[in-house]
Amino acid sequence: MLIILLGPPGAGKGTQAERIIKERQLAHIATGDILRSAVKTGTTLGRKAKHFMDQGKLVPDELVVELVKERLMDPDCVNGALLDGFPRTVNQASFLEQVLPNAGFGIDRVLSVEVDEKSLIERLTGRRVCSDCGASYHLKFKAPQVRNVCDRCGGDLFQRDDDALGTVKERLQVYKKQTEPLMDYYQEKKLIDRIDGNLDVEQVYEQIKKILDQI
Ligand code: AMP
Repeated sequence: MLIILLGPPGAGKGTQAERIIKERQLAHIATGDILRSAVKTGTTLGRKAKHFMDQGKLVPDELVVELVKERLMDPDCVNGALLDGFPRTVNQASFLEQVLPNAGFGIDRVLSVEVDEKSLIERLTGRRVCSDCGASYHLKFKAPQVRNVCDRCGGDLFQRDDDALGTVKERLQVYKKQTEPLMDYYQEKKLIDRIDGNLDVEQVYEQIKKILDQI
């Protein structure tokens, strides 16, 4: 099974992804997470990607498609995978179609999680992440018990560079220009389902579950 989660930054794809992979035993392939970890450990990929990520721009297709191609061959993908944050351009989408037969599956559904722009800005700029365990918080919607300290592991919380207001606006522009065309692309292939991401986490997941239950 292969599910694609499409949606702007801040739509809650990561939160929904955690639930979907648990229920469906899928590998979670989140290109943003893989790239951030490459930046943190200072690999060649990370060094090449950092400059684009800091500016809220997309990392060039040729770097991202290679890492997805390799990741799809990992043993945990045997039952299928959930792609979160990939593809983000039509070029990446057509690359995916070329490599999927090798991995042994085709695209089952593309779930487009849609949230209004004002909420996206509020969600992203208020987000804080634990520097040790990666747990995610929000200053208004999910504040930690002690300011700037992770409830789970006691680590320090920080704001991702790309969650600063200026970069968030750039990321949303990039999404509109480079990723939104994928909606028509997958609409034509009759693969897309629209999910109202403005609702609370449970209600968003209910919509997703109904669709997954039909596959
Ligand atoms: P995310 O955590 O998914 O919002 O991704 C963070 C950043 O990683 C993005 O702003 C891009 O710079 C980069 N990135 C993640 N996925 C992709 C992708 N599929 N194509 C290009 N750049 C990506």
